[in-house]
Amino acid sequence: MKVLIADKFSEAHLDRLKKVGCDVTYNPAVKAEELPKLIAPYKILIVRSKKVTADTIKASDQLALILRAGAGVNTIDVKTASARGVYVTNCPGKNSVAVAELVFALLLGIDRRIADNVAALRAHKWNKKEFSKADGVFGKTIGIIGVGQIGVEVTRRAIAFGMHVLAYDPLLSPSRAKELHIELVQPDDIYTRADIITVHVPANDQTRGMINKAAFEKMKPNAIFINTSRGEVVDQQALRAALEAKKIRAGLDVFNPEPAEGTADFADPILDLPNLYGTHHIGASTEQAQSAIAEEAIRIIETFIKTGAVLNCVNLAARTPAK
Ligand code: NAD
Repeated sequence: MKVLIADKFSEAHLDRLKKVGCDVTYNPAVKAEELPKLIAPYKILIVRSKKVTADTIKASDQLALILRAGAGVNTIDVKTASARGVYVTNCPGKNSVAVAELVFALLLGIDRRIADNVAALRAHKWNKKEFSKADGVFGKTIGIIGVGQIGVEVTRRAIAFGMHVLAYDPLLSPSRAKELHIELVQPDDIYTRADIITVHVPANDQTRGMINKAAFEKMKPNAIFINTSRGEVVDQQALRAALEAKKIRAGLDVFNPEPAEGTADFADPILDLPNLYGTHHIGASTEQAQSAIAEEAIRIIETFIKTGAVLNCVNLAARTPAK
């Protein structure tokens, strides 16, 4: 079965894909715009961050499966895939520990101003006087918006740091919240009560722009706002205004817009603000996470080849009982 891998994929796992019967083309450098003219002979397309547009999906009659080697599928035109009978699948939960670890890297990095410490030392400046001012996170209240795979891992780590956890997730039951030591609240309680707010929802029509001007206005002065989910869930203008007013500090792994490629110029003026600590959408980018994702991708493809079943399918219509 012909497989095109159009993003970086754990190279140690490429041979395993060949062993389960795949004829693999590994082309991580291909640009999203080039996919429509390349896709025709392939039955399976594996992507990580590359956009899969309607043009790509429509350019092939062979394509049967698009596999996102990660959690969210918002970079794939799922609607067009469904209309063309192309399955879309993903690898949920395999990178949640990696993302949760980055949340704490950003949080502690902001509290201790690690990046600024390093920049000063690299400039051969000793400034203990300036950098001795930090708050500490023990006993602070963290508000988690979206308690899915990543939100749960963030919760566990927050408890270990001695934090009080508030959370909002319409699908989180009171009994599960109790089990996780979470105080289940409404979003407004999070904005007004939390010292640290972290977002872990998918980007969709319900969540787009949900962290808006009103939300930032309700936040405590000097609150730390972390976003490792998707840039789209935050109103970027409101975020910028809150940062410019020095109302909040932010740790962002995701931006809107952000470059789709691995390297690019990125001149968003928000990056110049000193109270913003940013990373390059690297939440899932640990060897551990990539290896777990590659294992899951192999499991999905092997099952598909052997049985035709699509594990973790995100666009399978439930069968109607109507006759
Ligand atoms: P998940 O599907 O396990 O959890 C998402 C949770 O959000 C669910 O529990 C859902 O009920 C909840 N939710 C949905 N709408 C909500 C709303 N309006 N308010 C509150 N909660 C809501 O997904 P996950 O694996 O935890 O990942 C979360 C997001 O993180 C992904 O969709 C992806 O966009 C992002 N992500 C980023 C990176 C990165 O590299 N930075 C890596 C992986 C995932």
